[in-house]
Amino acid sequence: MQAAVVTAFGKPLALQEWDIPTAGPGQILVKTEACGVCHTDLHAAKGDWPLKPTLPFIPGHEAIGLVVALGAGVTIVKEGDRVGVPWLYSACGHCEYCLSAWETVCGKAEFGGYTRNGGFAEYVLADPNYVARIPTGLGPKEAAPLICAGITTYKGIKETEAKPGEWIAISGCGGLGHLAIQYAKAMGLHVCGIDIDDGKLDHARRLGADLVINAKTANPAEILKNAIGGGAHGVLITAPSLPAFKQGVEMTRKHGICVLNGLPPGEFPLPLFNVVANCITVRGSFVGTRKDMAECLEFAADGRVKADIELQPLSAINDIFERLEKGEVPSRVVIDFTGGSQAMAAVPARNAVAA
Ligand code: NAD
Ligand code: ZN
Ligand code: ZN
Repeated sequence: MQAAVVTAFGKPLALQEWDIPTAGPGQILVKTEACGVCHTDLHAAKGDWPLKPTLPFIPGHEAIGLVVALGAGVTIVKEGDRVGVPWLYSACGHCEYCLSAWETVCGKAEFGGYTRNGGFAEYVLADPNYVARIPTGLGPKEAAPLICAGITTYKGIKETEAKPGEWIAISGCGGLGHLAIQYAKAMGLHVCGIDIDDGKLDHARRLGADLVINAKTANPAEILKNAIGGGAHGVLITAPSLPAFKQGVEMTRKHGICVLNGLPPGEFPLPLFNVVANCITVRGSFVGTRKDMAECLEFAADGRVKADIELQPLSAINDIFERLEKGEVPSRVVIDFTGGSQAMAAVPARNAVAA
């Protein structure tokens, strides 16, 4: 099969032949139809984080495809089912976190496209207990971004504990952020979108943001406070950029919750007096549980949330990474495996946003 492989951190991916894996006991083999490209894949390929994947590996954790083979003992999915192979590839099922529906922080969790080979390949193995069940009526290309960008922001918004009628500030209006805006609106929140790119902010407006702020040319906390009489009840930081984190805390209302989704390498200074004296909570949030997955997919199946996708062939992966790094991807690129040869020319998406 064709696969895009990380052979060295920070180097272009190699497009190469790779053996089609065999489903062992308890595993399934999925024929990839589509796989979204998340900024996390870029962090993985650069070796940005303390826990690094073992080289060589195949990234990709927004893979959607059809089950084509079942390993011994698999009964909960059948051949032909459409599933998603997400970041939370598997967990132990027995630890205190798994037992309390916090499987995302299980110490034995495996991660798709990171500790296990992922969806930048024509076939991918999966654990049937942890795949996303794609609702009928939701196509594979539209579903792909939901199984990481969608679930992560849907869960992140819930973790802000902002209530209908209250304000949420979403910092970063790209792959994660453009879905976050839609989930937040569907959940009855007022939305302020923050980015450093005017094109992303125009798009945020089209998606329903009530207020947008360019953090490059203005102080977002000041503008937000003047506009709504205080900070936002909830803040969700999806930007892969450290300055956005300090700004996010500054944008949080007294007794509000600032949720961190973005994962740039490094640390940011926490203004202690502000956080303590204003009773602000700063909370990390990592993808979501299987229950969150089912819920976030239902929003899309109902037509309340729709990923904006630009389709590309697998062969364009290095160019996609370069654009992602420069902030030039409008919303989400999805690798299309259904268009024949992976060397085919770029196919513009039906619902692609203007570059
Ligand atoms: P993306 O590149 O598609 O979008 C990032 C957006 O942030 C872009 O629109 C960019 O213009 C904007 N941005 C950059 N600097 C900014 C700043 N200073 N202020 C405001 N906006 C700024 O990336 P993505 O796929 O949405 O991923 C974003 C981050 O989220 C990455 O670090 C990724 O690893 C992380 N992530 C975390 C989880 C999780 O479970 N916590 C899941 C998925 C992705
Ligand atoms: Zn992701
Ligand atoms: Zn566990």
